[in-house]
Amino acid sequence: MTEKYDVIIIGAGPAGLTAGLYTGRARLKTLILEKATAGGQAATTDLIENYPGFPDGVGGFELTELMKRQALEFGAEIREITPVANIEVDGDDRIVKTETEVFVARSIIIASGSEPKALGIPGEDELRGRGVSYCATCDGAFYRDKVVAVIGGGNSAVEEAMFLTKFASKVYIVHRRSELRADKIIQERAFANDKIEIIWDSHLKKVIGTGKVEEIVVENKNTQARVSYPVDGVFFYIGTVPNTVFCEGVIDVDGRDFILTNERLETSVPGVFAAGDCRANLLKQVAVAVGEGALAAVDAERYIEEV
Ligand code: NAP
Repeated sequence: MTEKYDVIIIGAGPAGLTAGLYTGRARLKTLILEKATAGGQAATTDLIENYPGFPDGVGGFELTELMKRQALEFGAEIREITPVANIEVDGDDRIVKTETEVFVARSIIIASGSEPKALGIPGEDELRGRGVSYCATCDGAFYRDKVVAVIGGGNSAVEEAMFLTKFASKVYIVHRRSELRADKIIQERAFANDKIEIIWDSHLKKVIGTGKVEEIVVENKNTQARVSYPVDGVFFYIGTVPNTVFCEGVIDVDGRDFILTNERLETSVPGVFAAGDCRANLLKQVAVAVGEGALAAVDAERYIEEV
């Protein structure tokens, strides 16, 4: 017979691990399901400077490892799985299915996070892993004394461009507007960094290379002039998409597939909650994810007591 949990948490990023810490401390039988390694996107961030309690910043991997240890400490179980395929409701049971496994609980917290968006231009897919990357922390060290380009103008693009200057001799930031979206403090640092050159008002049109990235072609949106830049790597940071395909047809999402909840973080299905970057919230930050994880856990506990 399938083992029944009180709470199943989908995703072991900051939201899921915090939810697991809280439900574990509430002595609820808790299972956290993760399709990759625990820590989520935060674990691939070199340095997190806006998580309270760490005035000198903290490594994303280091922080999420501590969160994982704490969730395990209080009794949550973490299991690596193939991606969740769908969620079903059967009376009071909330069921999570992967292609090969079935998990049953009284309540579910979806904390499945988001992943980097692809731009969909020629050369991007073909040269993925051969100079095209979506993770500077993972791949940056391969570019010692090389030239790389970062695409995007948000916090991720500019912070990761700064990180890449530890290795690369030059880092281009290709941004489609004449103003960055990143926080002002991050912009100031980028402007002061001699290794960074920003290519304003420009779209990346293609990535070129035989076997590995050799060149990018960038088009100025005002003049339509195209310029080629020889580069060894291209890092895409043009935003994220939520990991919510398994919600389709069951859980209400917004126009961009982020999960809709009420203020108790309950989704359109009673007993199913959502927290962190997969939720339609205003701010994607570790501090927010952690707060939402705690709230979803307490609300799941209340739901279990009430039904
Ligand atoms: P983001 O804030 O959505 O920024 C995406 C960037 O990519 C924007 O500059 C956007 O340009 C550009 N972009 C989007 N689509 C594009 C396209 N098709 N072609 C070219 N450029 C495109 O995404 P993010 O930087 O990945 O951050 C995601 C969330 O995590 C944000 O809420 C962010 O604040 C948060 N975050 C926070 C921190 C931190 O607090 N330290 C660090 C990382 C991430 P426009 O500016 O023209 O829209």
